This record gives sequence, C-alpha cells and structure tokens, in this order.
Amino acid sequence: MKIKRIDSKVVKVPFKAPVKVAFKTITAQEIVLLRIQTDTALEGFGEVSTIKEVTGETTADIMAFLKAVTPLLLDQETSAIETIHQIMTAFSVGHSAAKAGIDLALYDLLGKQAGLPLYRLLGGDNSTVKSDITLGIDTPEVMAMKAKKLVAAGFDELKLKVGIDDEADYTAVKAVREAVGPSVNLKIDANQGWTVKQTLQMAARLEKYNIIAIEQPLPHWQMADNRLIRAAMPQQLMLDESVHTPHDAIQAIRQDATDIINIKLMKSAGIFGAQAINSIAEASGVPCMIGCMAETRLGIAAALHFAAAKTNVHYVDLDSYLFFKETAYIRGGFEHEGGRYQLLEAPGIGVEINFEEV
Ligand SMILES: [Mg+2]
Repeated sequence: MKIKRIDSKVVKVPFKAPVKVAFKTITAQEIVLLRIQTDTALEGFGEVSTIKEVTGETTADIMAFLKAVTPLLLDQETSAIETIHQIMTAFSVGHSAAKAGIDLALYDLLGKQAGLPLYRLLGGDNSTVKSDITLGIDTPEVMAMKAKKLVAAGFDELKLKVGIDDEADYTAVKAVREAVGPSVNLKIDANQGWTVKQTLQMAARLEKYNIIAIEQPLPHWQMADNRLIRAAMPQQLMLDESVHTPHDAIQAIRQDATDIINIKLMKSAGIFGAQAINSIAEASGVPCMIGCMAETRLGIAAALHFAAAKTNVHYVDLDSYLFFKETAYIRGGFEHEGGRYQLLEAPGIGVEINFEEV
C-alpha cells in the first residue's frame, strides 16, 4: 500500500472555558487535521496540535513543513514508518508535532491494513485506560470546588497547574487536598515556572499534602539542576518540557535527572518516537506518563492506545479533549466515564474524520 496523497486542514477548536497554565491562558486551539490517501480504499487520519512555547511550531510552520515534505513521501510504502521518519529527519530537524501528524496517520493505516486496533498492533491486550484530569490555575476556593466535583464525577487522580505565585500555589494545593481527602492522587505541574530554590522550598512545604510527583519545575534547559533538586525533594520529579526525543530521554536518565518521563506524541514525533523513549525509560527503571497537548479525540485516542499497550506507562494524563466543545466531524475511538476510558475495537486509531466536512 503506497502513499498517494496527503491533505491537511486547519481548524480552530474552542474550549468550553479558558484554561490557565504558568505561561499563558488558552481559550481555543488551532489544530491541523491530516489525511493520507493510498492506492487502496484505506485512508489514515492524523492530528497536529501543539503549543509553540513547547515545540516551536506555529500553524503556519506546520502547514509549510507538511507541504514541503509531502513530495518526498509520495509513493512510499505506508508501512515503512522507520524509512519515512528517516526521510522527515533528513529533511529537517525539529517539527516534531508536524511529524507526529504524519506518524499517526501511518499507524492508523497500519492498524487498518492489519485489521487490528492500534493497542493490539503495539502489543497490548487491555483496552481500558484510567486517566487523571488537570485543573488549571485559579483561586484556591475555585480549584478546591472544581476538584471536589471531579472526584464526585469519578476521577481519583488530579493534576494541578501551579508555577505563577508560590503562596497562591501552596494555598491551592492545601485547599484541594483538604477538599478531596487523602485517597485521591495529586500531581502538580509548574510548567518551568520555578527556580531551584523555589522548587526546594515548595517541595518541602508541600510534603505534608502527599503529592506523588512534581512536574517540570525548572526551565527545560536546566537538566543538570534536575539531578540536584531530585536528590533533595520528597516527591518524584517528572520531566516534560525537558524531554522531547529519545536523545533527551537518554540525557535525563544518564544524569539521574528524572523519576518519571512525560511522553507526549507531539514532542516525540508520534508513536515511533514514543516507543523509543518508553523502551529507554523502561530499561532504565524509569516509568513514563503519557500526556497531551490540547489535542482532540483523535490525538487522545492515539495516546490512549499507546498507554493501553505499554506496561511501563504508569501514569496517564489524557484529558484535553474534555475541555473542547466537541466537533461533529471527529467521531469514535473511545468511550469514557469519569477517568475511565474504553477503547473501541475498530482497526487503527479508530477515530473517523469526515474530512469533507472539516
Ligand atoms: Mg506538563
């Protein structure tokens, strides 16, 4: 089966309500939906949804990359995923989210060709996944109230965004812990908002609230300092913005700089890179989380398949689609109730896009 045509369309998907993180407030997300057509009736679908502060790509960059790389991919075998990644890497470094869009469409096709859902193609045998849900930065009262509602709705793991104001963060974590009780797992994500000193102070102050991990407190380039804070903090240290590629994962592990790696398909250039990172981490005794950018049902479904297939993925943070107003032209993939997701047995990623209606 050969690649015959690659189409991409830009869509702006609005959030139900604005989401605030340490470096910005997000009200809508511009995404690129991508379709690969083949010399058979099968079509593969991919999604590119990224944050330029993390992968350096704007929508214009993504569209330009896809347009420029397409002629190099036409007539390639759709199953030649390693070759296609080599072609894209040789063409340009970076562009991880745009590359992920191509990668997802290829894995979708591989599953459709094999008649297997992606999680089975990746070696898995369990189609249910439990995810946490993220609370954006807000007043402590509002965060505690929202946390209580989410727990009542069936979530037993919450991730709190912090990193702007230490006192407000401390009060918010305290308020949430007191609101939800001791049995709910809490993680916090500072999105590079802290210094070494702040991290050490906050980690010590928050110890009594039993946080299971602090995610990316330091700027992404401060890899050596991660070792220092990791040795001193009572919580696990999780790296997100510091680890995009398998090479970053090797560096973090060699430097004893992380307890958990947060894999995101848009950073790892898709499933292909995600598998490499997970293997490196697993062989080093480092569990992974799988997270997401502001992805729709398609990107989330792909990541759920990955989580379902990989036993080293101990933590799942795949909630972004819950914040979107859902679009009628993206359907399927999974069903969910609270934090529990059930993948459908459809081949490939299992999400159908009515591309003409996009
Ligand atoms: Mg993060």
